[in-house]
Parts: sequence; C-alpha cells; structure tokens
Amino acid sequence: MLVCWSCIKFIQESKSSLDREEKSASSSVDQEWGPEAVEAMCNEIRAFPVMSGNVESPWTMGDLIDHTPKDLISKVKLEEIIFDTWFGGRTVLIGDACHKLNPAGGVGCQNAMHDAIVLANWINALPSDPTTKDIESAFKSYKDERLPWVRFAFNSTRFYRTMASSGIMARVMRFCGKHMPEWAKRKMLVALGGNRPQCSFLPLVEDKGSVPPAFQPSLLATKPANM
Ligand SMILES: Cc1cc2nc3c(=O)[nH]c(=O)nc-3n(C[C@H](O)[C@H](O)[C@H](O)COP(=O)(O)OP(=O)(O)OC[C@H]3O[C@@H](n4cnc5c(N)ncnc54)[C@H](O)[C@@H]3O)c2cc1C
Repeated sequence: MLVCWSCIKFIQESKSSLDREEKSASSSVDQEWGPEAVEAMCNEIRAFPVMSGNVESPWTMGDLIDHTPKDLISKVKLEEIIFDTWFGGRTVLIGDACHKLNPAGGVGCQNAMHDAIVLANWINALPSDPTTKDIESAFKSYKDERLPWVRFAFNSTRFYRTMASSGIMARVMRFCGKHMPEWAKRKMLVALGGNRPQCSFLPLVEDKGSVPPAFQPSLLATKPANM
C-alpha cells in the first residue's frame, strides 16, 4: 500500500512578502528549501497526531515520516495567485506558470490540462503562416476562455483551504459542508462539472453526463478561409 501525505503550514501574508524579499536577497535557496530545511520541517510536525485507527497508541506524523524514504520528502512553497500576464509575442504560459491554485482544492492538474486543450484548439485554428499579431490574438482568446474558469477554481480552492485550516471560521465551514442539503451540493457539482473542454481536432467524446457541457468557444474556432 502506498500512502501519500502532506502537511501545510500557514504563514501570514505580510510574513510571506517579507519571505519573498529575503529569498530574493539570499543567495542560498537551499538554506530554506534544501535537506536541512526539510529535516527542520519534519521535526516541527513530528508530534502531530494522525488518524490511524490505533486507539491504544495513536500514530503521529513522526511515524509517517520514519516510514517515508528521505529522498521522497520535500518542502514546497504553496503560492496562491493568478498572474496577469499569460503571454507575450510567441511565448505563452499554461498551468501553474500562470495560475497557482492551493492544493486543498485538488484541481491544479485538471486546470493545467484544460489550459492545454483550449490553447491547442486556438493554435490549431491559426492560419498556416501566422503573423505575431495572429499568434497573440490566439493567445488572447485562450486566456479569455480560460480565465473565468481559473478564477472560479481559484475561489473554490481558497474555500477548501480555509475549510482545511484551524479556527472558528474553518469549523463553521466544515459544519456547513457536512450538513449541506443535497440540492446545494448538486448546484456546486453542476457549476464544476460543466467545464469539460474537448479538442476540436480529435474525435469528440460522446456527451453522456446529466450536466450539459459549458459553452466552449475554442471548440468552434476554425482556420480562416483559403489557409
Ligand atoms: C503538495 C501539492 C499537492 C498537490 N495536490 C494536487 C492534487 O491533489 N490534485 C491536483 O489536481 N493538483 C494538485 N497539486 C497541484 C498540481 O501539482 C499542479 O497544479 C500541476 O502539477 C501543475 O502542472 P504544470 O504542468 O503546470 O506544472 P508542473 O507540474 O510544476 O510542471 C512543470 C515542470 O517544468 C519543469 N521545469 C521547471 N523549470 C524548468 C526549466 N527551466 N527547464 C526545464 N524544465 C523546467 C519542472 O521540473 C516540472 O517538471 C498539488 C501541488 C502540490 C505542491
């Protein structure tokens, strides 16, 4: 059996910007993110209890850490941001490079893949000998199509991030989540489930779901005539 685990430490926004300044001033990134930093992080969280079903002697994070090969433990900085710039000239960004979503929502990979699909459709609709203006226009269409979905995902991951944290707000949100009526759960799922972009240049996947797919402009994008 393979167990994946993660531990998230929340830092204040002001501290986080201070960190950024310190980090850019520091020449040794290893100091903060290398093996010593990983060990310090592990030591800090060793005593945290984890759900193990072992009532007599409950497990702690220390048990998980001791059972994990050292080279598989790493420390990463979780940033939450949607960048303004997604493209410039012939260069374009997808996935985490243009929007970093908190992993609490579990939708970062999906959004990176949706970016790739939508971008591929717009690139596929370019004329055979595109100018930089054509290319930038395709990149803009890609961003316009994806941005509302990315914003939606960003806000929902912030919701789950708060829900997974500690404090009164988190407890209220967990309570509401647990007692949410079925219709409200369905409304949330419908809002999420409609976003399932397809590649316009591949055979389309038959739509079998009870939630119709959301309108996808890039699916209709075609090459200009005589190209
Ligand atoms: C702890 C954690 C848990 C997560 N859990 C989930 C989850 O449960 N579900 C989910 O959907 N998402 C999750 N995510 C988010 C998800 O991992 C990312 O959203 C996703 O991997 C983004 O894909 P990407 O291709 O944009 O970027 P990446 O996966 O980061 O890929 C970028 C690649 O580029 C390489 N690279 C960087 N610089 C260079 C360079 N100069 N030259 C060549 N290569 C380079 C990197 O090594 C990397 O392989 C999690 C993230 C973290 C940190």
